[in-house]
Amino acid sequence: MTQILDGKALAAQVQSELAQQVQALTAQGHRPPGLAVIMVGDNPASAAYVRNKERASGKVGIASQVHHLPATVPQAEVMALIQHLNQDANVDGILVQLPLPDGLDAVALLNTIDPDKDVDGLHPINLGRLLRGEQGLRSCTPYGVMRLMAAHTIDLTGQQAVVVGRSILVGKPMAIMLLEANATVTVAHARTVDLPALTRQADILVAAVGRPNMITADWVKPGAVVIDVGINRVESPDGKAQLVGDVDYDAVAPIASAITPVPGGIGPMTVAMLLENTVTSYRQRLQI
Ligand code: NDP
Repeated sequence: MTQILDGKALAAQVQSELAQQVQALTAQGHRPPGLAVIMVGDNPASAAYVRNKERASGKVGIASQVHHLPATVPQAEVMALIQHLNQDANVDGILVQLPLPDGLDAVALLNTIDPDKDVDGLHPINLGRLLRGEQGLRSCTPYGVMRLMAAHTIDLTGQQAVVVGRSILVGKPMAIMLLEANATVTVAHARTVDLPALTRQADILVAAVGRPNMITADWVKPGAVVIDVGINRVESPDGKAQLVGDVDYDAVAPIASAITPVPGGIGPMTVAMLLENTVTSYRQRLQI
């Protein structure tokens, strides 16, 4: 029987635990945790993600503020907003919704965020802490993957893990977290030769590519744990928009020992980890 790694259910549980913590702390007279989201331009997918984060924050009791700026905003203005939020004592987390419109330097903006408010875990200081195995705010998507596997007591020690994708957002921090959990990790990318031969060796296969249904059943070792990070918008046969992962779920699920669905897998876990990072940052700032 294939185990379905239900990220939606675990995310709901994490959020309800966070809500209880926040409620207890605010009942003692503390201010609520604060999350500031900066969105530039009108990318519809980004707008949907931001709405989702706002809604989830509200459920947990986090006071969120969305700063929606026009696509033509100068770099210096976004920089000044981040610096202002860095100083704001009611803000515990700052995130810049990616991707940014052409003309803005995302790396320079992300590097301006106070590392202790970097709830997306993308600042070089937090990525450096991850690399060194020190405490710090962890990148939400790979952290969500680790938490989902831990909740299903998937033991990674000595396992062959293959991560397909090497972005700084997902693939690279994912590889480091798997390494930290004592897996033997291989990172594949667009120039990897004979990728299916490599993925077939994986006990733990993580796909973070952005190519719909790329990983088919013949790429997967029977009994593997398959984590699908990909979110791809495709047109279904009836002409409607549909979200699919990088893994051909229907073909792969029967041979995997465990698999994440899309939607309902890593997406909700990513949001839950963002909220958890915000509450962690809040508790550290208030020392409570
Ligand atoms: P990027 O486009 O930044 O990176 C994609 C990676 O995939 C690159 O390293 C690229 O290799 C590799 N790649 C591309 N084509 C191939 C191929 N044919 N074979 C092997 N590797 C390939 O994407 P992200 O890392 O930001 O995101 C990956 C996916 O995850 C997307 O679908 C995105 O929507 C989704 N995502 C989901 C999140 C969630 O909450 N669930 C959060 C973040 C992302 P190379 O470096 O050589 O070009």
